[in-house]
Amino acid sequence: MVSVLLIPAKVLSKDLRLPLFAGSILLVLLVAVGVFSFGEKLPVLVIEGNGTTPLKNGMEYFVAFLNGISIVVSFKNYRKSKDAIYLNIMVAFFFMLTAELIFTQYLSLYSALHFSGHVIRAIGYFYILKGYYFSQIDADKRNEMKIAEARHELKTIMKEQHGLIFKIIKQGNEYKHTLFDGELLERLHLSREEVYGKTIQEVIPDSYPILLEKYRIAWEEGERVTFEFKHREYSLYVLLKPVFQGGKVIEVIGSVTDISKVKVLEETVRNNEKLGILGELAAGIAHEVRNPLTTLKGFLQLIKPEAGESNKMFIDLMLNEVNRIEMITEEFMSIARPQALIFKEENTYKIIEEVVHFMEPQSLLKGVQVHLYASAPSYPVVCEKNQLKQVFINLIKNALEAMPGGGNLYIMVKSNIGYNEISFVDEGIGIPEEVIQKLGQPFFTMKEGGHGLGLMMCNRIIEAHGGYTDIKSQVGMGTEFKIYLPMENKHSEEQRNIHNASI
Ligand code: ADP
Ligand code: MG
Repeated sequence: MVSVLLIPAKVLSKDLRLPLFAGSILLVLLVAVGVFSFGEKLPVLVIEGNGTTPLKNGMEYFVAFLNGISIVVSFKNYRKSKDAIYLNIMVAFFFMLTAELIFTQYLSLYSALHFSGHVIRAIGYFYILKGYYFSQIDADKRNEMKIAEARHELKTIMKEQHGLIFKIIKQGNEYKHTLFDGELLERLHLSREEVYGKTIQEVIPDSYPILLEKYRIAWEEGERVTFEFKHREYSLYVLLKPVFQGGKVIEVIGSVTDISKVKVLEETVRNNEKLGILGELAAGIAHEVRNPLTTLKGFLQLIKPEAGESNKMFIDLMLNEVNRIEMITEEFMSIARPQALIFKEENTYKIIEEVVHFMEPQSLLKGVQVHLYASAPSYPVVCEKNQLKQVFINLIKNALEAMPGGGNLYIMVKSNIGYNEISFVDEGIGIPEEVIQKLGQPFFTMKEGGHGLGLMMCNRIIEAHGGYTDIKSQVGMGTEFKIYLPMENKHSEEQRNIHNASI
């Protein structure tokens, strides 16, 4: 027992136990055989009525001494590991030691004292058994509890995991999900019960062929598979990892990550790149187109007085068209590298009036009546006039295009403390709720032939003026665009410097 206690737990492997046990039995048998065969020749240990001999006492003291060592060792072990097994062993050896001491004291083998020694020793054995046997059961129970705890923890982690974790196994010709959890589950409108133990076809029938093929590669070919996959409005990144046992795939662990945001970001970056290229192109084209336009316009104006009545009408038409081309090039130019910007105090109302006048031919052509309202004659604002003009032209253009059958466009200029409020209210087709969020994104257009840059440019210009825009719309009723423009632009000085530096 002492030697067993002294051997470190790790060294006492399972394989050593059987030889040790067999060895002890053999030893006991040898002693028994020895005693029965040579009993007469062995020294006397007990003299009935007189008690134990010194030899017997000496042997008992030696065993008691070993028991004492065992007590000390188990106590130390108990202090170290707090394992109940050592406490039981310690108590056991205490009883054994007591029994050994009793065995040096009795006078008769038939005395109560001798008998009580054996009872006490039996109690010692009981504690040894209890120590090993019951502690073993305790350990199992504790392990089970630990596993359950870990399992629970894992489940919580998985539930809170931003993506999704799942496991699949192959059953017959189908793949079944044996685990499916994660925060993404709710966002995908799937419940655990809906997927647990179900096949792909039962869970996401739309994507059955794609998923089946990927699952197959992971399972049959034992390959790690990654792929992107769209489900509802989500872009998902899926990783499948086969788990092997004895060279065979026993299950496939999968994880799903929501990469929708990354996708949107990628798209924006791509658009921005496009925008940069387009800006440079626009600058070149606008420059090239403007020069011949000036010539054209000049000559048209020159020959107009000499033309006959009917020709005059054509020349007017041509001049109108040339103006339109000029307007388009101007719109292009403003997307391109910024021109020299001059911020100074202007009258908002006057700028709008000019623009409305400028757009009159187009409005008439579309059968749109433009109504301009203002409560005061002057709305001072520190701005870059040409840029604001661009904004107003764009908004009027959008309004005209929204009313293909004609209608009314109301433009109202109001003054509040510190800022001007300009609203454009049309009676056009309106904008659906889900589209409104996308407005202002580069290249977002609902029109055939539209470029989807107008509103983006408007937003940029108004923001550069320290203001902001607001859109309200009802499909079939019309749209209201509001611009809030601070009278004094805190950024204007700064902005001017930046733009001047970049020119
Ligand atoms: P584009 O006019 O080239 O399409 P914009 O950025 O000017 O680009 O406008 C983007 C989209 O916003 C348009 O395609 C249109 O669907 C919508 N939109 C803008 N203004 C209006 C409006 N007043 N009424 C209805 N829809 C509008
Ligand atoms: Mg537009």
